[in-house]
Amino acid sequence: MNPIDHNVASEEIEKFSALAHGWWDEHGEFRPLHQLNPHRLQWIRDHVDLQGKSVVDIGCGGGILSESMAAVGAKVTGIDLAEASLQVARLHALDAQLDIDYRLVSAERYAQEVPAQFDVVTCMEMLEHVPDPASILQASASLVRPGGWIFLSTLNRNAKAYLFAILGAEYVMRLLPKGTHDFAKFLQPSELAAMGRRCGLETADIAGLEFQPFSQQFRITQDPSVNYLMALRRPPA
Ligand code: SAH
Repeated sequence: MNPIDHNVASEEIEKFSALAHGWWDEHGEFRPLHQLNPHRLQWIRDHVDLQGKSVVDIGCGGGILSESMAAVGAKVTGIDLAEASLQVARLHALDAQLDIDYRLVSAERYAQEVPAQFDVVTCMEMLEHVPDPASILQASASLVRPGGWIFLSTLNRNAKAYLFAILGAEYVMRLLPKGTHDFAKFLQPSELAAMGRRCGLETADIAGLEFQPFSQQFRITQDPSVNYLMALRRPPA
C-alpha cells in the first residue's frame, strides 16, 4: 500500500463492510448513529450555515451525516475506505434524490489532491477506528480552506467512558455490537485539541452527546465525559 494510504486498520474496514447492508436500518446496528444524527447536525448548524457550503465528510460510512448536510443545502463529498459502505451510500442518495459525491480515497491522499478546497470538514465517530488520528487531523487541516470549520466527534477515554461506551452500550444495553470499540483508541478532548493545535487549528467549541436510556434519545450537553463533539477552525489567511 502506498504510504499515503497507510493510516487504516484493515480489520476496522472489514468490520464496517460486513455491516454495510444495515446502514439505513434505523433499528439495526447503526441505530445510535440515526438517533444522534439530528443533534450533531443541529450543533454543526449552530456554528455555520451549511447552505451552499462545500463539505467533505471523512469516514462517511453509509452517508447518515452526509445526506443530512446535503438536505440542508451543503455540497457534500463523502470519503471512506470501505467500498461496500460507499455503494450503499450512493444508492441511498439516489433514492433520496440528493447529489453527493462519494469517493473511495484516504483523507491523507484526498488532502494532497484537493488542498484548501472545503468550507467545512466533518469527521464523526471515526477517529477511534484509525491507527493514527493525528494524521487525520493533519489531512483535515489541509482540506479546509483558511477560515473554515472542522467538526469532529469521538469517545473520551476515562473510567466513565469505559463504563458507558463499552460495558453499557455493548454489553448491557446492546446498543452496539460487542467489539465495536477499543478503549485504548479513545481520545481525551485535551489530546484532540493538542493534535489540532499542532496542525495550526484553534479549538472553538466542545460539547457532550449524552444518551438518555429511558427516552432512548441523545441530547447535547456541556459534559464531554463520554461521547463528545469538537469544533475547530483554521485561522483566516
Ligand atoms: N461518520 C459516519 C460513520 C461512522 S462509522 C457517521 O458518523 O455516521 C466509522 C466509519 O469510518 C466507517 O464507515 C469506516 O469504514 C470508516 N473508516 C474507518 N477507518 C477509516 C479510515 N482509515 N479512512 C476512512 N474511513 C475509515
